[in-house]
Amino acid sequence: MLQALLPSPRSASLRLAQSASKKAVVGRSAFVLQQRRGLASEAEHDVVVIGAGPGGYVAAIKAAQLGLKTACIDKRGPPGGTCLNVGCIPSKSLLNNSHLYHTILHDTKKRGIEVGDVKLNLQNFLKAKEDAVNSLTRGVESLFKQNKVDYFKGSAKLLGPNEIEVTGNPGEKDAILKAKNIIIATGSEASPFPGITIDEKKIVTSTGAIALEKIPEKLVVIGGGIIGLELGSVWSRLGSQVTVVEYQNSVGAGMDAEISKLTQKSLAKQGLKFKTGTKVLGAEIDGETVKVSIDSAKGGKEEVLEADVVLVAIGRRPYTEGLGLENVDIEKDERGRLIIDQEYRTKYPHIRVIGDVTFGAMLAHKAEEEGIAAVEYIKNGHGHVNYGVIPSVMYTFPEVAWVGLTEEQVKATGTPYNVGKFPFAANSRAKTNLDTEGWVKFIADKETDRILGIHVIGPNAGEMIAEGALALEYGASSEDVARTCHAHPTLSEAFKEAAMATYSKAIHF
Ligand SMILES: Cc1cc2nc3c(=O)[nH]c(=O)nc-3n(C[C@H](O)[C@H](O)[C@H](O)COP(=O)(O)OP(=O)(O)OC[C@H]3O[C@@H](n4cnc5c(N)ncnc54)[C@H](O)[C@@H]3O)c2cc1C
Repeated sequence: MLQALLPSPRSASLRLAQSASKKAVVGRSAFVLQQRRGLASEAEHDVVVIGAGPGGYVAAIKAAQLGLKTACIDKRGPPGGTCLNVGCIPSKSLLNNSHLYHTILHDTKKRGIEVGDVKLNLQNFLKAKEDAVNSLTRGVESLFKQNKVDYFKGSAKLLGPNEIEVTGNPGEKDAILKAKNIIIATGSEASPFPGITIDEKKIVTSTGAIALEKIPEKLVVIGGGIIGLELGSVWSRLGSQVTVVEYQNSVGAGMDAEISKLTQKSLAKQGLKFKTGTKVLGAEIDGETVKVSIDSAKGGKEEVLEADVVLVAIGRRPYTEGLGLENVDIEKDERGRLIIDQEYRTKYPHIRVIGDVTFGAMLAHKAEEEGIAAVEYIKNGHGHVNYGVIPSVMYTFPEVAWVGLTEEQVKATGTPYNVGKFPFAANSRAKTNLDTEGWVKFIADKETDRILGIHVIGPNAGEMIAEGALALEYGASSEDVARTCHAHPTLSEAFKEAAMATYSKAIHF
């Protein structure tokens, strides 16, 4: 029953593409090219990974650990991809430190702590982020060395099904790598908004928004998804007036509807303004100001918002520019995702694709899981990723985290279900921390009690959801979780109590 309920994002959208193209694949012989351009020749690798993001670098390390001669190529230079360089890591540094700043400014008195003059040094605040990024990217480079992964800091272009040209590797000759297996992990980029020109100063993507040199007085965020709400929160805590414009009637794309409402309410209480059910018509720089034209989704309510900075955060799209796909004729779907089968294979069985550049959630941990599974397929012929159990986390305050199905998804299947909820306001640790906002919500099959989804909004939700993922992975019932002893006093007792409330009754609420 559960297998039928949990989504299998791959199966619906993937096409088995196993038959090799009849078209001639390699336009140029790598050897001739090598002779002509004086390219350095490399010994054949068992695996060449293109892209050193969470998908690519994890795949490369795993391949080397399994005894495969491995190379990894990334044109960014420092490894870690979007996630370490301009995504997960820098944004979490900003979220953590802006929360600390905001807490010291507004939330110490009730704790009996009196603080004097509190000032923000934006330059050092951004430097703390850079330090975290640099230490982690250096860490990945040393893992490459430790595991004997050959790392090339250059652009990779497929010349044919077994040859990759590497150009721009600092201090090195351009090279052609020969590979028995290729893993494409070239990730994603911010989706452009038609008609709006990004300058990364006044009209920015997330990359510009994590590096603003001045706190904007007014920030308009186009898109109320996770990235928009996280970065909107950062600048709001530092003093910006933030307005989030969202086309849908709710924020936090993909969240359980009830949790989404609580999220919006909580962020609104912190000062973020929301214009949901609203479409953006355009944005133009006018001197120091950006004018954003909006209208209600249904039309007839046009207005202009003025901002110092506009963040365009309407999603991300697969990135394959310069990869030389034309030389191998690997297919994309209508959204630019590379088409693969259940074992990550393109129509060439030895060329696999993982992470943001193909199907599924655009999340670092999903890319990492695929990196390991793809390599295990190469080495052992089998691998495993459970797409029904990929947790999502939004690192706002309170945090929001979920795994499995939303209540709306369960309802749509027609399966009878139970819901159990527990508020942090009734949790002892939350009380001692003076941090009582939020709930834990369980959804379980009414007949079998098997957990179908878990949703948390509250303190440490991002850490707590790991227990939920483990429960779903092992096919636990809510009673299994409820009968597992949880330490007291901990926030995770709210988790246990929500499980109790699902099959029976909570004790403390
Ligand atoms: C602001 C922001 C916050 C985020 N926060 C989170 C979060 O908290 N948690 C989470 O799970 N996810 C988060 N994400 C998403 C996460 O960053 C991505 O899902 C993840 O990085 C995808 O990993 P990947 O390996 O598929 O690709 P990427 O990380 O995008 O890496 C791809 C790499 O390939 C390289 N490349 C591309 N083409 C070539 C080529 N031809 N030659 C050589 N190299 C090439 C690129 O330079 C890049 O470094 C966030 C994203 C953003 C933008």
